[in-house]
Amino acid sequence: MICDLLTLNWEEISRQAPGKLVVFLGIAPVEEHGRHLPTGVDFYETRYWIDGAIRFLENEHPDYCYGTLPVIPLGFADMGMFPGNIHVSRKLIFDVIYETVKAVANWGVKHIIVISGHADPLHSIAIEQACEKINTENGITAFAPMGSIFNANQKGIVSEQPEELTENTRKYPNDFHAGWIETSCMLEIAPEYVSPDYHTRPDISLSGRDMMDPVRTAALIRDEGHIGYPSRASAKLGAMLNMDMSRQIKEAVCRFLDRKGYQCYEKHPLYDIPGFRITDI
Ligand SMILES: [Zn+2]
Repeated sequence: MICDLLTLNWEEISRQAPGKLVVFLGIAPVEEHGRHLPTGVDFYETRYWIDGAIRFLENEHPDYCYGTLPVIPLGFADMGMFPGNIHVSRKLIFDVIYETVKAVANWGVKHIIVISGHADPLHSIAIEQACEKINTENGITAFAPMGSIFNANQKGIVSEQPEELTENTRKYPNDFHAGWIETSCMLEIAPEYVSPDYHTRPDISLSGRDMMDPVRTAALIRDEGHIGYPSRASAKLGAMLNMDMSRQIKEAVCRFLDRKGYQCYEKHPLYDIPGFRITDI
């Protein structure tokens, strides 16, 4: 069963067996995504992937109730001075997740899943630290698998994906922001918000190393706002990408519900590198 927790009263929520209620909490920034995509990309993706994952979960684990909360529209989204961009501190992300998850845990809920469509390592790690703190205090309750899902290869997480996606990733790598990946996802989720000139936007190629240099990144994307290859996007690829993401989230959550083999999803590959974690918490 799936339920939108905003539509229930407290008594209805209290009737759910705490061990059988899974609460999904999304968090994603309002962030510039080039000239061709809306600022809500990460927000829409987050909601869409959560809904997709729940559809899979209902099949595999129909004995649970899947509750959704509204996506929190905040993120560490350091994309410079573009109008429309809202960038907040890592500490705020940590606090919002820690306090919100703690409040849900206080209802007696044992499975709280935090999902974000925003892949910035500093954003992911702040969320993971909040979950880690909750889990230390409450016992294992909170789970944030996206930092690992976005970096499945580095984490050694094996996931089968359609050959066409693998092939595109090989041809158009480092498609970090509003490139073929996100443009395709949005062509499936909400094509009406994608500017039809997306296929005329230039390729902007940056390596992972370049991305670590904010000054260089800002200079390279100044005129456009994207990093990658938006012109190679299609709704067909988007359907495959969204399905793949929902399936990967489902797989991680299944493991968490069983409390078996989920640990490989708990930490972003950069978690232990000095400087990536918040220290004043
Ligand atoms: Zn994005």
